[in-house]
Amino acid sequence: MRTPIMAGNWKMVKTEAEAVDFTKKLVPLVKDIKDRQVIIFPNFTCLSKVCDITCPTNIGLGGQNLHWEDQGAFTGEVSAKMLKGVGCKFVLIGHSERRQYFGETDETVNKKLLKALAEKLSPVVCVGETLTQREAGKTMKVVETQIKGAIKGIATEDWDNIIIAYEPVWAIGTGKTATPEQAQEVHAAIRKMLPKEVAEKTRILYGGSVKPENVKALMTQPDIDGGLVGGASLKVDSFEQLIKF
Ligand code: PEP
Repeated sequence: MRTPIMAGNWKMVKTEAEAVDFTKKLVPLVKDIKDRQVIIFPNFTCLSKVCDITCPTNIGLGGQNLHWEDQGAFTGEVSAKMLKGVGCKFVLIGHSERRQYFGETDETVNKKLLKALAEKLSPVVCVGETLTQREAGKTMKVVETQIKGAIKGIATEDWDNIIIAYEPVWAIGTGKTATPEQAQEVHAAIRKMLPKEVAEKTRILYGGSVKPENVKALMTQPDIDGGLVGGASLKVDSFEQLIKF
């Protein structure tokens, strides 16, 4: 009922030439995939050229961030309309690196989410606890605060387009993965935090050092509906293995 998603977050890694080269190799490898959705999140400067390759295919394209205003004096920012203009259908919101290094808060996540939805972009809303918070037994509380803060004012019909990503901060880029049981426990709890009428249909992705070696055990958990992957999405062969887990 929930089509799985495998999404690659390329962070600030690939140049335009590298992104184009990767994408050209990826297209034929995934062209026949129908039972899951593939999405890539290149950096802003690559989006237009990557769209030339992906937009006629089954690969979805997304931006890594957006601003909640349409335009104005916001140097260095990018709007929802700008993302749509270069072919994006998705956008990452509230990634822990944005929260940790760029002052993203639950309030700005909410504003961005509302704007993405108003512009018919599908937001992937990221939540997750730090190691200190987990060790203090605060995981569920932290995640609940982030979820509730993010989804304030969201209409029921908007939930068709919202994707949640649970990404424990201690597992991102560290090589430490949550065990399938740890991840499933939080995913099941997140599903209960969502409005009843949308909980069962909403896709909740896991992110945090997903690799070919651990992908199957994670993705076969009942409440894990796919992955948001950084490091292992940067090489075509490992991303292909993740997509075809
Ligand atoms: C991410 O960037 O969202 C992520 C989960 O990174 P990694 O897979 O490298 O841990």
